[in-house]
Amino acid sequence: MLPSMPRPPGVTPQTRRRHRIPGVRRSAVTFRQHEAVLSWYAAHRRDLPWRRLDASPWAVLVSEIMLQQTPVARVLPAYRAWLRRWPTPTALAGAAPGEAVRQWGRLGYPRRALRLHAAATILDRQYGGAVPASHADLLALPGIGGYTAAAVAAFAFGQRHAVLDTNVRRVLARLVTGTQFPPAHPSAAEKRLAESLLPADPPVAARWSVAVMELGALVCTSSRPRCAQCPVAAACQWHLSGQPESPAPRPAQRYAGTDRQCRGALLALLRESPAPVSATALGAAWPDPAQRARATDGLVADGLVEVHPDDTFTLPGT
Ligand code: SF4
Repeated sequence: MLPSMPRPPGVTPQTRRRHRIPGVRRSAVTFRQHEAVLSWYAAHRRDLPWRRLDASPWAVLVSEIMLQQTPVARVLPAYRAWLRRWPTPTALAGAAPGEAVRQWGRLGYPRRALRLHAAATILDRQYGGAVPASHADLLALPGIGGYTAAAVAAFAFGQRHAVLDTNVRRVLARLVTGTQFPPAHPSAAEKRLAESLLPADPPVAARWSVAVMELGALVCTSSRPRCAQCPVAAACQWHLSGQPESPAPRPAQRYAGTDRQCRGALLALLRESPAPVSATALGAAWPDPAQRARATDGLVADGLVEVHPDDTFTLPGT
């Protein structure tokens, strides 16, 4: 309850009527909860470079690709180094795709680097080196799914789109639906719910999306929500109903000994080598021949590695 606070623009009493959502228990999210979350965000937000006013749409796009399945702490140094080297899509488009894979380093899921390079090439050739503001144009770029297109449209261009990442889904599941965790996969119903909660004014809607995301990252965490510090605890359906437990989300997958680890070891060797790498050298990086062959074939099929007639290997185009 923040009766003395100025109401953020775009959050009006009419919002209350829009928030009557079929199938959702009463007291979902009113303009008062909007005020509370936006005010909390203004006071507690982390100073992340991609959220600063001077962050370009390209910087926002790079951050969103890097943040897929990767924590902020690991992304920060990689993001800074990437933008120092390639501050625009045109700069990246002028580099070999293998250089993007090399620069990606140990962030994981390196196909993201290739897709980012492919997206930069399209931005350079079709958009004059700019990032388009249209959600449909963003969605057509390689590696950009519905979530990332919505996030870039909202955070880079202040548009009104539901941005449903893991944190937002968890907060809305607890606050509105009254369950501890959202379903394993995002559903159309969740998207409709998130859209119905967006404030009317596009820039405020964009701020609401990033504020809910931050609330999920800092307060409404997966295993230990800090409800005593939550700005919407008084309206949270899960909290008010005694925090009933529901099945936990899937545990993190084992990494040690997997093909994924083998691919990572082979790719690390190629990243660190300025010259082509022989099959013998790859063999030293991962001793199991069957697993190594499977991983190498996968890397070649994914376009992350090139094999040459003399039986040496390099990153693509390097
Ligand atoms: Fe999450 Fe607790 Fe806030 Fe509900 S009250 S939204 S569970 S932190």
